[in-house]
Amino acid sequence: MTFDKAYCEELGGNVTAYKARREFFAQNDLDFKFSFFCPDENCNVELTGVNIYAIGKVKHKPHFRTKKNCSHSYDCSIVEELDKEAKSIDKGSTTAASHGQKSNKYPDEFILKRPKKENQNKSEQSDDDDFDIEPREKIKSTTTTTTDAKPHKTSYLENVVDSYEDMNEQERKEAYITLNAQRRSYHSTFKKIQYFQDGENFIFYGEIEPIKVYGDNYSITFKDRVWIDNKPYPVNMYITDDLISNYRLSRLFRESIDTLAKQGSNSKDARCYFVGSYPEVKEIQRKEGNIFTVYEVVISNLDHLVIKFEK
Ligand SMILES: [Zn+2]
Repeated sequence: MTFDKAYCEELGGNVTAYKARREFFAQNDLDFKFSFFCPDENCNVELTGVNIYAIGKVKHKPHFRTKKNCSHSYDCSIVEELDKEAKSIDKGSTTAASHGQKSNKYPDEFILKRPKKENQNKSEQSDDDDFDIEPREKIKSTTTTTTDAKPHKTSYLENVVDSYEDMNEQERKEAYITLNAQRRSYHSTFKKIQYFQDGENFIFYGEIEPIKVYGDNYSITFKDRVWIDNKPYPVNMYITDDLISNYRLSRLFRESIDTLAKQGSNSKDARCYFVGSYPEVKEIQRKEGNIFTVYEVVISNLDHLVIKFEK
C-alpha cells in the first residue's frame, strides 16, 4: 500500500512526498533522513519515503509505503480511506456513477504563487514556507465524513506533471485541474509547445533536443518548431548559473540537468514542462550580419520548470 502523505517528525506535520523531497534537497546534509509515520495519530506506524532522496529517478513518483514487517492499526483511518477510494475506482472510472466520486489521487488545483510570509524580501531563497505542512489534527476530523475528497492543491509543478504522465488519454479528459482560476481538464490544461499561440494560461511542454552546456549555463531547445507565417522557428530557454544558484533546490536542479546534459544525444524522450512564462520573439544578430529569429522562454522561477527523462 502506498501513501501520498505522511506525518514527518522533523517538519512537524503531515507532508506530501514532494514536500519532503524539496525539504531534503534544500539542506546540504546528504546523510540526513526524515522520520515518517502514518498520518493517523492513533496508528502512527512508521513509513518509508520512496524516491525522496534520489535524483533523476523518474519512473516512480515520490511516495510513502509501510515499512516491512510493520502494519497499520486495525482501525487506521488512512487505510480505511484508501480502501474506500480503491473500491470506488474498481467500479469503473468511466461510468456515470463513479463520475461524481472524486478521487484525491491527482491534484485538482495548481497554485502558481504560494502565499508569501510577511517581512520576506529574499526573492527565491525562502519561497517554501509552512504552506504545505498540515497540522496532524486535521486528519482526525475528516475521517468521519463521507468519501467526498478534500481539494488536493499543490504548488509543485512536478506533482502535476507526474500526474499527467501517469494518466491515460481518457483520464486526462476526465480529471480536472484549476490553473490561475481557470478550471479545465488535464487534457486542456497541458499544451504542446508548438501551439503556444493558443494562449498564455497553460502548462506548456514538449520533447527537447540534447541540452547544450555553456560553462555553468544551459540551453534547452524544444524539438518541435513553431510555425508562424509558414516559417518554422525554434523555441528555447536559457538557464543561467545565477538563476540556479539562487534557487532553493539548486543542488537537485543542477545534478538533474547535468545528468541529462551528459547523456547528450543518448537521452531518450527528454521532455520539458513549464508554466507562468510565455515564449517571446527574439532577434539574434549573427556575426555575419544576418538576423536569426527565435522564440525565447524566460524562466524566472525554477519551480515552474520540470524536466523529465529516463535515466
Ligand atoms: Zn496507519
